[in-house]
Amino acid sequence: MQNKGKSTIRTKAGTRALERLAMENVRRDFFSALGSLVVYSILFIRYLFAELFPIKNTIVLAIMVVYVVMDVCFAVISYKKVVSRDSSRSGELNRVFWISRYGLALIFSLYASSKTGATLLILMIMLSFALVPLFELKEIVVATALQVIMLVLHFAINMIDAERFVTGIIILTLCTVISRQAYYAALRREMDAGEISDVKNLADTDPMTGLLNRRGLERRIMQLWPMCIREKLSVAVMMIDIDNFKKYNDTFGHPEGDECIKMIAKCLKENIRRRTDYIARVGGEEFLIVLTDVTRQGAIDVATACKTSVEEARRPHSKDNFLPYVSISTGLSFASPVVPGKEFWELRNDADKQLYTAKENGKACVYIEGECFAKTEPLRFNRQYEKERLFHQI
Ligand code: GH3
Ligand code: MG
Ligand code: MG
Repeated sequence: MQNKGKSTIRTKAGTRALERLAMENVRRDFFSALGSLVVYSILFIRYLFAELFPIKNTIVLAIMVVYVVMDVCFAVISYKKVVSRDSSRSGELNRVFWISRYGLALIFSLYASSKTGATLLILMIMLSFALVPLFELKEIVVATALQVIMLVLHFAINMIDAERFVTGIIILTLCTVISRQAYYAALRREMDAGEISDVKNLADTDPMTGLLNRRGLERRIMQLWPMCIREKLSVAVMMIDIDNFKKYNDTFGHPEGDECIKMIAKCLKENIRRRTDYIARVGGEEFLIVLTDVTRQGAIDVATACKTSVEEARRPHSKDNFLPYVSISTGLSFASPVVPGKEFWELRNDADKQLYTAKENGKACVYIEGECFAKTEPLRFNRQYEKERLFHQI
């Protein structure tokens, strides 16, 4: 990870993870196509037995035929891919499939005159998104907005009753949440796939803090990085270092220093809750955090929250420190999205440089692209410092 010349990221493990992800998509396409065929069949039978057969129903039937043809085509393509183990471009195919299917479903749902038909459609569209979680946040937002528009149009054009409207909104909210959770679960599963035993593998874990060690982090990055490129995810890297820790050790002793490191690890863990984010202890008193699918501001917020947690723990520092309590400095780097050719070590080095700048500029702050955030001003030799010292009986 540190060697600039070596591309340790593009490894067999990463490729295998991508293949597994593609195969998972293919499997989902297949089962969802089967599921929708059942739904269309129910609708078709309903229309066959309808007393009147107006133009509206003919349009609905025409769209249904397109639907079935699409589904069958994709089922066949999926099957071929599974058999030939060809996973190339399946990500794009998958998206095109779901987006076009979704668009048709939207039009279709507007024409669905019966209560059952419309409800079935709303359910089908929403569950499609919940079933196939491999979408970016942007796509989910657009889809959710479309679903809301669709419900409003239903409400206005088809005069659906308020009860159906509310049910639709509840289903929509639930499905959006489920689909987001499923997305992270799928990403994490793929990253960890084949390494389940490694979760408990002591070789990957730092025994003092229970965080990942360098090796553990490197192995996770091998899985994560190709995934981020493929899914066009943004990534933020945080490098964290305890301020004036030598001084701390000199004052309180090494064992107390170890306790301090453990406390900081705990503070960091409390602020990193997403299953796709990683925290590692990469040096004696240095930590690295990788956040995926995050905005620049989101990353700054997480870094600030970590910093605040550590400071709010009010762990006493030595008397001549610039703050009466332990603090951390953070260097942040950000890539949105991670583009092919970009290497993890580039982001890591950038975060390292930002950390260096933070240390040069007074510590206890977060730096990103030369910009300082959440700086805690030194309290040394002023009244506030003395008050803090007295209060905490340092
Ligand atoms: P700065 O604010 O610039 O980071 O100053 P610093 O004194 O913290 O400098 P540096 O980051 O280089 O300090 C590293 C020190 O951390 C050196 C070593 O004594 C201490 N250290 C490293 N690993 C451990 C550990 O596992 N336990 C303890 N107690 N101390 C450690
Ligand atoms: Mg250090
Ligand atoms: Mg330090």
